[in-house]
Amino acid sequence: MQQFLLSIIVPVFNEEQNITPLFNRLLPIVTQYNYEIIFVSDGSTDNTLSQIRKVAGENKRVKYISFYRNFGHQMALMCGYKIAKGDCVISIDADLQDPPEIIPEMIKRWEHEAMVVYAKRNKREVDSFFKKQTALLFYRFVNFLSDTPIPQDVGDFRLLDKEVVSFLNNLPEQSRFLRGLVAWGGYPAQYVYFEREKRNAGKTHYTLSKMVNFALEGITAFSTKPLRIASYLGFISASIGFLGIIYTIVEKLFYPSHLVTGWSALFVGTMFLGGVQLLTIGIIGEYISKIYHEVQKRPQYLIKEQFNT
Ligand code: UDP
Ligand code: MG
Repeated sequence: MQQFLLSIIVPVFNEEQNITPLFNRLLPIVTQYNYEIIFVSDGSTDNTLSQIRKVAGENKRVKYISFYRNFGHQMALMCGYKIAKGDCVISIDADLQDPPEIIPEMIKRWEHEAMVVYAKRNKREVDSFFKKQTALLFYRFVNFLSDTPIPQDVGDFRLLDKEVVSFLNNLPEQSRFLRGLVAWGGYPAQYVYFEREKRNAGKTHYTLSKMVNFALEGITAFSTKPLRIASYLGFISASIGFLGIIYTIVEKLFYPSHLVTGWSALFVGTMFLGGVQLLTIGIIGEYISKIYHEVQKRPQYLIKEQFNT
């Protein structure tokens, strides 16, 4: 048996049908290591927890945490990182979309200097057209705006060295956009490629609104460019307005007969300006709400039950 400790963390939200299949697939792979498996139930309301309890009853290396309510995927991961004692920590989805079979390869990379090993999707064939397109748009958009580029086609299936985990655990900020934070650290990283499989059972928990929130989080946590864009927009529309004033004065003074009543220009101008102003206020609001959450310093999740940790 190898000396180091491997922690596997699995965030789960209503995955009752996936716990046992995942565990059965994971087990033959991890038994060659000194391992622990940590399930974090993110406020599941189905039989997920009793499935986890069953698995934990059979294997002493299984630990679990259960939240009072759904705090979100990133928070479940964060909790896993806090609990994990491993020298390297692998996070994996519960729905078997991330094949556990590539874990040994990830560990090999870690043993050869990598502190972060990303599992990168070769293709996204199994995902729906909508998911593929929104994911592409998401990466493009975030990377365009953000000062810290995040790697494309990389989800939350990754290995982190314990030093990276302690960096995450000791961050003072409330906001947790883990993909960005890991990239921000600039640790030596490597990729292992895999083909993303279909979800084993159940449906995705990433609804459109969750995806939009996630994207906004990713942008506002790593960039203040939108604020600058807001200033540019204000500057452009003010310049147009200023040119309009000069034009009107010139027309009034020198070509008074050309003057038209122009209500449509007025209407368009007001709508445009109104739009720019609302957009700008919205962008500023996003950042203020971030500051608001940061100063509140509420706990990021609440643990209802924990076992073996
Ligand atoms: N998940 C979670 N909390 C949530 C949403 C999802 O812990 O609020 C877990 C979920 O159980 C799964 C993983 O995060 O293990 C990825 O979620 P999902 O498969 O729904 O996302 P997708 O693969 O469609 O992006
Ligand atoms: Mg999934």
